[in-house]
Amino acid sequence: MSAKKLGLREKYSKMTRDLSWEPSYQPMEKIYPQTEMEGLKIEDWDKWEDPFRLTMDAYWKYQAEKERKLYAIIEAFAQNNGQLNVTDARYINALKLFLNGVSPLEYAAHRGFAMAGRQLPGVGAQVACQMQSVDELRHVQTQVHTISHYNKYFNGLDDFRHKHDNVWYLSVPKSFFDDAMTAGPFEFITAISFSFEYVLTNLLFMPFMSGAAYNGDMATVTFGFSAQSDEARHMTLGLEVIKFMLEQHPDNVPIVQRWIDKWFWRGYRLLSLVSMMMDYMLPKKVMSWKEAWEMYFVQNGGALFEDLARYGIRMPKYWEQTVAGMDHLSHQTWNTFYTHNHAAAFHTWMPEEDEMQWLASKYPESFDKYYRPRWEHYKKLEEEGKDFSNPSLPMLCQTCQIPMFYTEADDPTTISYRVSEYKGDKYHTCSDGCKDIFDHEPEKYIQAWLPVHQIFQGNCGGGSLEEVLDWYRLNQGVENVKYHLSEDFSNWKKWKGLDPETESDDEPRQVSNG
Ligand code: FE
Ligand code: ZN
Repeated sequence: MSAKKLGLREKYSKMTRDLSWEPSYQPMEKIYPQTEMEGLKIEDWDKWEDPFRLTMDAYWKYQAEKERKLYAIIEAFAQNNGQLNVTDARYINALKLFLNGVSPLEYAAHRGFAMAGRQLPGVGAQVACQMQSVDELRHVQTQVHTISHYNKYFNGLDDFRHKHDNVWYLSVPKSFFDDAMTAGPFEFITAISFSFEYVLTNLLFMPFMSGAAYNGDMATVTFGFSAQSDEARHMTLGLEVIKFMLEQHPDNVPIVQRWIDKWFWRGYRLLSLVSMMMDYMLPKKVMSWKEAWEMYFVQNGGALFEDLARYGIRMPKYWEQTVAGMDHLSHQTWNTFYTHNHAAAFHTWMPEEDEMQWLASKYPESFDKYYRPRWEHYKKLEEEGKDFSNPSLPMLCQTCQIPMFYTEADDPTTISYRVSEYKGDKYHTCSDGCKDIFDHEPEKYIQAWLPVHQIFQGNCGGGSLEEVLDWYRLNQGVENVKYHLSEDFSNWKKWKGLDPETESDDEPRQVSNG
């Protein structure tokens, strides 16, 4: 007798939902202890619509095909010395930020979805989380493999795991995921799948991938595309989980709204790194941060929230402040990294005159008035050999961990900070959004590992700047200098024959990484 061939839907059902069973000798709440702790009311798990009907065997087949293509291109890129075809070596600093700041988040997402999947009783949700968990592991691996080629030629790419866990500014992305992973499973999925992947992911992927394409980095473009097709699935999961929670019970609406408010604001703060990358770090620009925020959040996000209004969901709280801040975000962020370059594992620089003009045209309200004069002052100091550096340790926001350098939404000359009191101590946050998050869960955020506090408490290698930078494993004088003084820059000139004083090498020389 030949076996009956199953239809796609039937096969999917047999290989997912039908694998589940009702427990007989343990109560559900003991098997899934986190399902109720967040206060959500779920009445019927069968209402979970599987947004994509993909079985595990088909999944492995698709992913394997993508891997084969990606690794063939990476190999060709390496054989052809693809690193020499990027616009200029300043571009590599965007990759340093990506590998140290973002790739470890892919790994965190891999862990987070594995944990969330274990805690959700519905098998449809379990399968979706399992696939996303495997996707995220693939993302971190392909990113590390792609960027490892650049690690042979440029500094600042060789120790991303240690740096991600320790260096001050990388505590911003790290704490974002730590916060999500230590929440319950529904908040985790709302944070990552909805607020980040559905609402904000275009603002991370578009600038990095188009930025890579514009700047000749075909290796990064390829891993970007390879991840993008997974992203479509992840975004569908994000929207599905939101609708599921909202449709299960009206009492869920205010809980979900608070999560959307919280994770929108945390995501926006995290994306400040992307804003400076777009406006300052890409030698060939894609679009300005302001244009990207208008297109991907104000327009696309606005339309999404109009759709969700029928569930009683509104735009994320304080979104108006993100619009008021568009004219300032990237400039204030870049200023901070420029003045603290001695403590960063990538190079910064002041824009060339044509780049200043581009910035002035994209930011007519703010650039010439507030930022150009400062940049010209820094440039003058550079010419005099007195590069400006800020040796002080800034106060950090207790929630997002970003140094307190942003200004009030309606006044670009006043630093924005808020104060909360909890159990007799004072806690500082950078904004109304971060203060609300702190005030709702103070017991969580008072435990934050704040880099500056840790340095002052003596937990980061010692009391001097040098000791702390050693503890960060920052290759001092090499990784942490301004671009014009860097080995990356002098190597680049040699390889490209741009420096009349040194002989052009036939072969690119590899740098020695620690
Ligand atoms: Fe990913
Ligand atoms: Zn903050």
